[in-house]
This record gives sequence, structure tokens and C-alpha cells, in this order.
Amino acid sequence: MYRYVARAPRLGRTLATHAAPAIPINAETRNRAWAREEIQDVYDTPLLDLVFRAAAVHRQHHDPRKIQLCTLMNIKTGGCSEDCSYCSQSSRYATPTTASRLVELEPVLAAARKAKENGSTRFCMGAAWRDLAGRKRGFERILEMVREVRGMGMEVCTTLGMLSPDQARQLKEAGLTAYNHNLDTSREFYPQVITTRSYDERLDTITAVRDAGISVCSGGILGLGESDEDRVGLIWEVSQMPEHPESFPVNALVPIPGTPLEGNEVVKYHVLLRTIATARIVLPSTIIRLAAGRNTLAEPEQAMCFMAGANAVFTGEQMLTTPCSPWDEDKAMMSRWGLAGMRSFEQASVARKEGFTPEVDVPDATLQASVPK
Ligand code: SF4
Repeated sequence: MYRYVARAPRLGRTLATHAAPAIPINAETRNRAWAREEIQDVYDTPLLDLVFRAAAVHRQHHDPRKIQLCTLMNIKTGGCSEDCSYCSQSSRYATPTTASRLVELEPVLAAARKAKENGSTRFCMGAAWRDLAGRKRGFERILEMVREVRGMGMEVCTTLGMLSPDQARQLKEAGLTAYNHNLDTSREFYPQVITTRSYDERLDTITAVRDAGISVCSGGILGLGESDEDRVGLIWEVSQMPEHPESFPVNALVPIPGTPLEGNEVVKYHVLLRTIATARIVLPSTIIRLAAGRNTLAEPEQAMCFMAGANAVFTGEQMLTTPCSPWDEDKAMMSRWGLAGMRSFEQASVARKEGFTPEVDVPDATLQASVPK
């Protein structure tokens, strides 16, 4: 048994430092309305000052020693009708990715068990398609996957393209913890990346997810050819949501041969770090997820990202179609830097959406086994 403590009481904790961050760090920074210019000012702060401020905010809203370990499985690969210009799974581009059908239940459960045994507490399943239209039997199988993985005591996330409110409700009833639907970039730059679905359609899916009581995972990709202003625009857009998303993934584009962005330069490290630190300050209680491209970073570079507020990684054998750092490497790295994995449902806002009451004694067994009401 452990005592489950909400994050809110920790907001007033003072820091053992003589330097006062320019942004007041208290409950007011939580989900406050940000003007886009203010976020730009934060983003433009000299980098080490920015990291320092982000680290301060991080320490007031999160346990800085904890990193959430997530494993992502592609449950339906390739053949997607969308034209996302970074994606090897679009049927519009000649890429090395081969299309396949939706996988059966058992391989998914085996992968989830393996992920759990290796310390991952969130299992994410991704399907390459526009939406679930005409996929009734496939959706039923996915609902069963969600039920089974949730029954293992793991947080379970899916990314299945656009969702209707009713589909979101069914996923919630099956026990889905979180739904990933990235905005990818700023509203202005978005049409240069994707033309087959609009920014507002993306926001509609996110609204359906949030209204169903599912935690929202929505972030972006760096290295699409966007400007600093676009990266600020993405963070601003997310900050305007009625609730900040529980999770904000920051992906570094891995250019894939055959896609329109195959020749893009990999995003500079200082840009990645600046974006993470800015997101941490603007979205103080959100989990900032260091996602695709992490395996290209040296260990001290990753550690600096954790210092600046990143507190989740994808770990395991593969991240959809890009390589992933394996569990053993990640565990060894975390041990060297004094980091530990989060428990399932450790994030207070996610726990609340699961029907757990923060600040009450919740037995581990309850957290591991209960299915949300
Ligand atoms: S990112 Fe998703 S929706 Fe876009 S082409 Fe790839 S699989 Fe399809």
C-alpha cells in the first residue's frame, strides 16, 4: 500500500535557490491563459536560463526523478490514405514500409505483457488509417485489446486517427486511459504538411476524446521545416484547450526515404531542448514526452531534456516505423542519472479521469486491477 498524493499541494514548495525565475511559479501558472507573444518571449529566453526556469517549474509540479516508460506497438501498418508528408505509412509515397492488416489479439497481449515485465507502465497501440469508418469488426477487436491491456494494470493508449464522440465513448468504456492525436505543428504551417484533414478536424477529435473523459495526448513534430514561430504556435494552440492535455509528445522528425520530407535536416538539438523547456513552463502539469528521434540523442543530451522537464519516453523494440531505445539501455541510463520509472496512474490528472481519488490511500492492487467506472 502506498499513499497516493495529488500534485496540487506541492505547488507552493519553495526552491533552494537564490535566483528568482521571471515567471511566478505557483498555482497561477497552472493552466493559465497564455498570449502567444508571452510564449514567444519564454521561447526566446537565453537557453540556459530557459532550462533553469523550466527545471524549476518541473520540480514544483512533478517528481523530477520519475520518468514514465511507454511502449508503442503498431497494430496496423501502412496503406494509409492520408498524405502526412513525414509519414512512411502513407500509401501516397513509395517508402520501405509494407502495408499489413490489423494484428490479432494475442500478439498484442504478448507484446503488452513483455512491455510490463520490462517496466513499461503505459502501452500504446497505433493504427495507420484516416478513421474507423467501415471498420466495425476491427474496432471491436481494438476494444478487446484495450480491455485486456487495461486488465493487466497498465495505462492503455491508442492512436487510431479521427474519432467520433461515440467511438471515444466506447473506448472509454473499454478502459482506454489516453488517446494520442497530435496537432503536429502550428495552424499556419499545418497546410504545408498535411492536406487531407484540417487542423479543426484534429481539434474536433481531441474534443471528442476529452469529452469522453479520456486523457489527451497531443503534441508535435520538429524538423518539418517549421520556424521558431510555428513551434511557439503549436505550444500556444495546445495551451488554449479547455484543459491542458495530460501528455505533450515532442517528436524529432526521422526523415524517411520516399516521403516528401526525406531531405529535411534533422532538427538541431538546441531547438528540441528549447521547445521542451518552453512546453514545460507553459504546460506545467502535463507530461512532456520525448518521443521519436530520442535514440539519436547522446545520453547527456537526453539528461538535459529531462532536466528541462521531459518526463516520459518510449522504450522497447520499435516506435511505429522508427527505431527505439531498448529497455535495457534505458534502464541503465536512468540508473546512472538517478531516475526511476513512474507507476501506472501516477499522474494525478490521469488518475482522476480513471475514477481514482487523489489523497486517499489506494492499494497498489486497486490501481493495478480496477477498471474505470
Ligand atoms: S501519420 Fe497517421 S494519418 Fe498520417 S499518413 Fe501516417 S498513418 Fe496516416
